[in-house]
Amino acid sequence: MLIDLQTVIQETEVRETLPQDWWKAADRAQQILGFSRPFEAHIKISRVGDKFLVDGKLYGGLEVVCDRCLEPFDLEVKAEFNVYLVARERDDNEENLELLDEEMEVDFIQGETVDLDDVIREQIYLSVPMKCVCQESCRGLCPQCGTNLNVASCLCESGSTHPAFSRIEKRKIEGE
Ligand SMILES: [Zn+2]
Ligand SMILES: [Zn+2]
Repeated sequence: MLIDLQTVIQETEVRETLPQDWWKAADRAQQILGFSRPFEAHIKISRVGDKFLVDGKLYGGLEVVCDRCLEPFDLEVKAEFNVYLVARERDDNEENLELLDEEMEVDFIQGETVDLDDVIREQIYLSVPMKCVCQESCRGLCPQCGTNLNVASCLCESGSTHPAFSRIEKRKIEGE
């Protein structure tokens, strides 16, 4: 959605429901497969001097790939963000950029319009945790044969039985 920043006198508010097919298959890492349900976006854009502050809330669900077992799962997303929009002038230099609050995220824009879809897409990427697992107890894939250990066990494991245990088993058999 294109917003003409010239029409933002003080504050502009946008509420939008992004349909489930809004997310187009990823160009970057394929971790996000799509929306698992529609996203609610509530965004306020306010004029701050010669910059614009985007104050946004996103709520929805993503279908993402588990880092350990590589199976898709539903990740609930509740994201709040603040981003400054700064028009990039031809003569902008490092000095001008240093005046910005270092804690704040900055998106550079060309001209007087911003595509909110780009801002939202970026924030959705950022909302996915670095370590993204379907459940804390996910057992992942067997490094040798690739079996998903959440749903099956494989023979590779039998070779790694601790020697102490096999001794106990042996004694039990001998005692019988
Ligand atoms: Zn998993
Ligand atoms: Zn295995």
